[in-house]
Amino acid sequence: MTDGQTLFAVFALLYLIECLRLVPSAAWMAAGGEKSRWGVVRPWSRLQIASGSPLLLSALPPHQAHTFGLPWLFVPELEALRVRLTDSQCVSIAWDKLAPQAEQSTLHLDAATRLRLNSPVQAQLWAQRLTDWRDLTPEQRHSAFLKHAHATLDTQAAAKTATRSAERTKSMRLVASILFVWCFGVISVIYHRFGDGFIVLAAAGVLLLVQFIQSWLFLRVTRGMQPGIPHRRWRALGIAFLPQLALRAADAVSLADDDEPPHTLAWSGLIKDDIWLESARRLWREARYTPGWSQNETLPVEAEALQAFFHREGIAETDYDPPPASKLPVCPRCGAEFQTHITTCSSCGGVELRSPAA
Ligand SMILES: [Zn+2]
Repeated sequence: MTDGQTLFAVFALLYLIECLRLVPSAAWMAAGGEKSRWGVVRPWSRLQIASGSPLLLSALPPHQAHTFGLPWLFVPELEALRVRLTDSQCVSIAWDKLAPQAEQSTLHLDAATRLRLNSPVQAQLWAQRLTDWRDLTPEQRHSAFLKHAHATLDTQAAAKTATRSAERTKSMRLVASILFVWCFGVISVIYHRFGDGFIVLAAAGVLLLVQFIQSWLFLRVTRGMQPGIPHRRWRALGIAFLPQLALRAADAVSLADDDEPPHTLAWSGLIKDDIWLESARRLWREARYTPGWSQNETLPVEAEALQAFFHREGIAETDYDPPPASKLPVCPRCGAEFQTHITTCSSCGGVELRSPAA
């Protein structure tokens, strides 16, 4: 590799690192702009780093705004608190073993379990909230959870957060797209054609100028946003002189919100309908079909909250819980088919099967 190529590779790597975020393993990120539906980015939940997972923000131009969503990570059950670690992994912690403690963005729950949240503020908030829940009666926990569920399933508030994030960062994202083309396109071509020389220096000068503009935009947009943006002035200095920071300057703004993130299902109408419905069905199945579901008269609390939300949104039960098409007994949780003499699904911990007639 020539010096130029090495420099280019190092710079591309620095840029990708700047696109990485460590988030809760069950988190969702929506990426989009003013128009059309937002795309969904998920973390690599197989990779566990500091009790969270890395997520690669949308990296290519046109640069997009991001907004953060989370399924319910903590659900109070009668004997224990159920904690969602990843999409497929939950643990239950007995109430008397629960000792929540926040350390930066990490929430310690008992001797063995910890979980990364999206900010130190959120970790603090949940440490306090779970301590409060622990001291409540089961009925009080039930209504406390429903209240939290209702607040996080506000579709209008979630759409507003996304729109605000897109509007705030509009000009910064445009500058970032120009910078991207300039860094990875124009400068490389010029260097390739002319080698070291005045013209490359001039191109680098233009780059610096655009970075200054980005830094000024950043300071203007983030005025009054503290404490959402830590080390705001230092960051502005970095944006002015380091291209990778200038390219990702909008992320610091769009992801600065320390408000409680919405539930991912509050993004109905924001993300594509099929992705939303797929997620709604999965979350419903997991919440509704727990061992004993066919005998229990009341719904588990998470299913109760979801059902109330679907009712509010006018979503028919056949949409979020489509009846099985199979002529054999089917596990309502994982969808596996069974022979007629089998009554429970062992891979779902003994969930009763749904008979084809029902
Ligand atoms: Zn199953």
